[in-house]
Amino acid sequence: MARIVMKFGGTSVADLDRIRNVAARVKREVEAGHEVAVVVSAMSGATNQLVKWCQELSPLHDAREYDVVVATGEQVTIGLLAIALQTVGVEARSWQGWQIPIVTDGAHGKARVESIDGSLLIERMQQGQVPVIAGFQGIEPARNRVTTLGRGGSDLSAVAIAAAVKADRCDIYTDVDGIYTTDPRIVPRARKLDRIAYEEMLELASVGAKVLQTRSVELAMKQRVRVQVLSSFEDKPGSLVVDEDEIVEQPIVSGIAYSRDDAKVTLRRVPDRPGIAAGVFGALAAANCNVDMIVQNIGADATTDMTFTVGKADLARAQDTLEKARAELGFEAILADPEVAKISVVGVGMRSHAGVANTMFRALSEKGINIQVISTSEIKVSVLISAEYTELAVRALHTAYGLDGPAA
Ligand code: ADP
Ligand code: ASP
Ligand code: MG
Repeated sequence: MARIVMKFGGTSVADLDRIRNVAARVKREVEAGHEVAVVVSAMSGATNQLVKWCQELSPLHDAREYDVVVATGEQVTIGLLAIALQTVGVEARSWQGWQIPIVTDGAHGKARVESIDGSLLIERMQQGQVPVIAGFQGIEPARNRVTTLGRGGSDLSAVAIAAAVKADRCDIYTDVDGIYTTDPRIVPRARKLDRIAYEEMLELASVGAKVLQTRSVELAMKQRVRVQVLSSFEDKPGSLVVDEDEIVEQPIVSGIAYSRDDAKVTLRRVPDRPGIAAGVFGALAAANCNVDMIVQNIGADATTDMTFTVGKADLARAQDTLEKARAELGFEAILADPEVAKISVVGVGMRSHAGVANTMFRALSEKGINIQVISTSEIKVSVLISAEYTELAVRALHTAYGLDGPAA
């Protein structure tokens, strides 16, 4: 007997038939004698609609009210799945984040999980009841308000619950049958990885491979949660996220990711003096805008252009924040370009191999794709390009690093 957390994403609960399918899968694990807790996302598209409504009313909306709105999607699916389970004879009850509680900090819209007391859930599971838990939601105790964990946050809920109830496994069911060398929806020749190291998955997720949310991988790595990604539609083995030393053969590049979630911001003619970067990025941090890639060119006339990326969702707030600080910072103009994509190649083998970045630059230049910004880390190289070339770039790099599987 094992204790398992099963998480189902939006497409897996997109309509009543799919919710019945989820109930059948949960029932199978329960009948095999396992203790099961389930975490679900909102129905496919629901969260997007809720986000859009908030944005339409006001791009600079109150983040606390945004959370109240977007957390509702998951409330619908936990109730529906609990009913579906009861209908097939499985004892189940729904849990919202605050009822457990899943305690977070107060960073509304991207809250961090601080603690979860798993004892109540364990007690219910031991009594044979299946807790059906709303992903994505938490509660901030200081003000007693609902929080959400950032887009894709139900993965984090699942891993955090798995750690809190000391589960043997955290199974993430989704619309693909595992973790691939790149998004199989844009590269049909992407190959499924039986295993991937936590660190590589973390890096891939952080640069846009949304099959697992970044913080969920971070937490799984820290808490040693065994995470498996598998299809909710087919019975096939999935992909396991494991320690590096559990992987026998280590390619130099293990995967390629892309993200269209960032926007490029350029500050024109910023005074070139000490403290200016601290002023710009300090103001953005205070406004809770995450900054990613940064480049600065040294100008000849004591000014410089500073370019960086922020999440598209934070762009309006970033522009507003910088505009308010314009007098103090003394730059000439803010240029914003949301039509960009970040393409990244990731692999732990890069630590010991030279020339990885060069292969990337060559492959992109052969396709005539211009690189706007470059950033690197120990196991990753990322470039920012025009969004229209995203698919072309990912396919070209997948081939250039020898990752293509047999033609489908
Ligand atoms: P869910 O709603 O189940 O959470 P997501 O849409 O968040 O599902 O994540 C699954 C999607 O991630 C897949 O449909 C696929 O398009 C995308 N994806 C991106 N990169 C990868 C990758 N390397 N391997 C598998 N899927 C990937
Ligand atoms: N429903 C939330 C979202 O779409 C959380 C999740 O699905 O993981 O971002
Ligand atoms: Mg997801």
